[in-house]
Amino acid sequence: MSPDSTHAEPGGRVAADDLPAPYDGPRPRDALAELFIHDGYAKDDPRLWVPLAPGRWSRPLCLNVSNGYWVHLTKVVGGGLLSRHRHPAPVHGFVIKGRWRYLERDWIAEPGSYLYEPPGDIHTLVVEPDCDEMITLFHNSGALIYCDEDGTTTGTTDVFDRIDACRRHFIDVGLGADFVKQFIR
Ligand code: FE
Repeated sequence: MSPDSTHAEPGGRVAADDLPAPYDGPRPRDALAELFIHDGYAKDDPRLWVPLAPGRWSRPLCLNVSNGYWVHLTKVVGGGLLSRHRHPAPVHGFVIKGRWRYLERDWIAEPGSYLYEPPGDIHTLVVEPDCDEMITLFHNSGALIYCDEDGTTTGTTDVFDRIDACRRHFIDVGLGADFVKQFIR
């Protein structure tokens, strides 16, 4: 470890009262702006929640058009079956509130549960009947392919559909058509 090191990696840690100046050196000229959303799910503006169906909302966090994914909070009020769907690309999920499961699995997702869904996975999302409200962060890649009990496609959605739905909703609630742009990278 270098004794005059002013960064934490590799080789150690700098005391909180001995921090260097913020980095102001060269940066990749084509890098996109970061996206930082400060407010938590419990105290946010209800207009941020885009209604998808009765009792179901999606709050956008990152709508990524160059890599074809979207990161969002799913909120469901009241139990029941949400959808049967197939994934052509991986999904990551982290439960924040409530309980839910897939009919095809023997586990129950609860606050703190993390889930990786591999490409090709087909499952049916059910919110437990004793759950008043479920909130889960999902990172969806590619598309969501809705299907019937035989696996036949009945509909699809992707990041561009999500952006369109957000834009329509933000216009409806008075935030304007451009409000969605802050979530797009
Ligand atoms: Fe899924």
